[in-house]
Amino acid sequence: MSEPEVYTLADLGNWKEATRSLGFPARLAVIGDPVAHSRSPQMHNPALRAAGIEASYVRLHLRPEELAEGIAGMKEAGFVGFNVTIPHKSAVFEAVDDMSETARRVGAVNTVAIEGGSLIGHNTDAPGLRRAVREAFSMDLRDLRIMIVGAGGGAGRGAAVQCAMDHCERLVLVNRTVEKARELAAELREVIHDPDRLEGPADRLVAIPWEERAMERELGQIDLIINATSLGMKRTDQEVLPRRLIQPHHLVYDMVYAPARTRLMAEAEEEGAKAANGLGMLLWQGALAFEFWFNQPAPVEAMRAGLAG
Ligand code: NAP
Repeated sequence: MSEPEVYTLADLGNWKEATRSLGFPARLAVIGDPVAHSRSPQMHNPALRAAGIEASYVRLHLRPEELAEGIAGMKEAGFVGFNVTIPHKSAVFEAVDDMSETARRVGAVNTVAIEGGSLIGHNTDAPGLRRAVREAFSMDLRDLRIMIVGAGGGAGRGAAVQCAMDHCERLVLVNRTVEKARELAAELREVIHDPDRLEGPADRLVAIPWEERAMERELGQIDLIINATSLGMKRTDQEVLPRRLIQPHHLVYDMVYAPARTRLMAEAEEEGAKAANGLGMLLWQGALAFEFWFNQPAPVEAMRAGLAG
């Protein structure tokens, strides 16, 4: 019998029976609405096999009004934890019993560990980005002058918080709705301050609108450009920034990973810059989640192969 692509709240009421065909009991899930698109099972099931852990990871479709019952059902079914995707990241933030400093600052939980009946919330997207940037460019966020385009969205906020917590050299927050970037900059001013570092100019953290002139003024003093907008998934999407603004010294990290070579990446490489897609961030947020659940190093290469397969 082939396993269903997606389980539901009704299955959770009869979990053992509903997941009998899996081979190993389903003790982990990604919850979302929709959730069928999630690639998380593709990396976590190979990780569980590689680590010799007798559990399965599934997709669980929960509507917003089903969330509380769904969480109770997962506890009842003996879950180790779960991942959270749209639209539940803020609601789960409210539902957990305790959370990491990163999750608290980002204001969103994407990973929950169930420990002794308590829900411990983590945000692994933000540190996942940090690991992905290091892997792609052999550079750490803390040593870079960074521009985040789309800083007002959920992923952009997470990236900005991580850059500030790492005390990066400079942070420029760009957003179509500039007020959101300004509010975030005000919130992060204290976080980016590093008492051990000689503070640079006052404009170490700035917020600007998503406008060509404004971005052009900043890009000479930027090393890493991060695309955290939702632009780039569709062929008809507008460009994230005009290609003439990309310079050969830039590192370009596009959080989008489908298509694998985004328009932004292609244009950056054609301009002589280095570029990477968001697959590394997906991989590393998963690896960090695995480590929270099992308190052991994640089998990253098995996860990478699962994602590629
Ligand atoms: P979101 O909360 O909806 O935020 C979207 C962001 O894009 C906002 O800053 C928004 O600006 C901006 N934006 C949307 N349409 C735009 C347009 N036409 N022109 C200019 N700006 C526009 O989405 P999200 O959850 O943060 O996700 C953002 C992207 O990151 C998505 O592509 C998602 O797939 C990707 N992502 C990747 C990973 C990974 O593991 N690689 C993880 C998380 C997210 P306004 O504030 O003005 O609306």
